[in-house]
Amino acid sequence: MIRPAELIQRKRDGEELAAEELEELILGYSREEVPDYQLAAFLMAVFFRGLSSAETHAVCDAMVASGERLDLHAELGRTVVDKHSTGGVGDKTSIAVGPVVAACGVPFGKMSGRGLGHTGGTLDKLEAIPGFRVELSEREFVAQVQEIGLAIIGQTGDLVPADKRLYALRDVTATVDNVSLIAASIMSKKIAAGADAIVLDVKVGDGAFMKTLDEARTLADAMLELGRRAERRVACLLTDMDQPLGHAVGNALEIREALDTLRGAGPPDLTELVLQASARLLAFSDLRVDEEEGRSRAEAAIADGSALAAYERWIRAQGGDAAEEALERTPVVQTVEARDPGHVVALKALPVGLAALRLGAGRTRKDDEVDHAVGVVCLKKRGDEVAPGDVLAEVHARDDESAARAAADVRDAYSFGAERVAPPSIVLDVVA
Ligand code: URA
Repeated sequence: MIRPAELIQRKRDGEELAAEELEELILGYSREEVPDYQLAAFLMAVFFRGLSSAETHAVCDAMVASGERLDLHAELGRTVVDKHSTGGVGDKTSIAVGPVVAACGVPFGKMSGRGLGHTGGTLDKLEAIPGFRVELSEREFVAQVQEIGLAIIGQTGDLVPADKRLYALRDVTATVDNVSLIAASIMSKKIAAGADAIVLDVKVGDGAFMKTLDEARTLADAMLELGRRAERRVACLLTDMDQPLGHAVGNALEIREALDTLRGAGPPDLTELVLQASARLLAFSDLRVDEEEGRSRAEAAIADGSALAAYERWIRAQGGDAAEEALERTPVVQTVEARDPGHVVALKALPVGLAALRLGAGRTRKDDEVDHAVGVVCLKKRGDEVAPGDVLAEVHARDDESAARAAADVRDAYSFGAERVAPPSIVLDVVA
């Protein structure tokens, strides 16, 4: 039997702990045998001392072992793919990637999360679709991936219960932003959810956990190592989150933009990311194609309407109304206009995300209600030229007062200059 106080002390003093010790500690916490205060102290010791690669593996393994695990390959007799983003502003990528990949004949099964703070969650976006059910049982999830080729659901209670408890504790003890803990948390859920191949999208910049490319590479390396040890094929795209992805930030608005992308009329940055993520997933699949061929097939699925048809089948299978007109709109839409001529040199993701959050698009506490209709559409982005009176952004709000407040925040997120600054490409690097 471990003594938690001794493990806390040894970690505090910089010692490396044995895999069995970490396993007992994490599983003990998951079973509520180790109290919050001891785990909180342990997490803070980890925050300052870090975890070695062996310790990170042990924590990840213990989290996977804390609950059930799915084996989608065994269930379907096929390679099943999944995608995960570390979270950003306006990130609706999975909602377009899933249908593109499914339209190309590759099963896509994803368990997703809700948004907290300025980053939105895929489940909240999907719940903007009237009738859409995110809570399928594991049986229903597997059956839908088998029959429709695509399912995105909330994480079922039996998967990685240790992460659920640990993440909630990290959230209130300032111990979220540790690379080893983030890597173990994300990868334990991906491994337990049972896909064979995973494309990870590590966001970098103002609106992301990882502020620099170096930090993002460190996280990518840690996640790739955990994935490979679990015999998954994994690649990490490091992508720009200095400005919001695409134009729309807010749940129903983002579903509309995902639909535009599936129709071939999406914003260039989002479309490029969807194509690159889909190409990698197709190259990982059992289609036996390389990435170049994967990209051509993804482009063809958008061009011939089969990706949009896959979206409609998927939404209907989960009880939703796939028609765009079914998405709710707000009574107030206020524009933010340019005052002077110039070029947009920056559009900070974090204040845009926070403006959408204050409008009601996100939650600051776990039990907050989300308003699916509100949000911000940033029509002008970095590199765009503007003339006085041009609409920079639209604020979709419930009332004039909240619209005016958000409009002021969104205006402050923009910086202008006389010279054009070319935007970086959306994918900054790939770690594979
Ligand atoms: N997302 C997760 O699932 N876990 C973390 O620790 C951070 C982001």
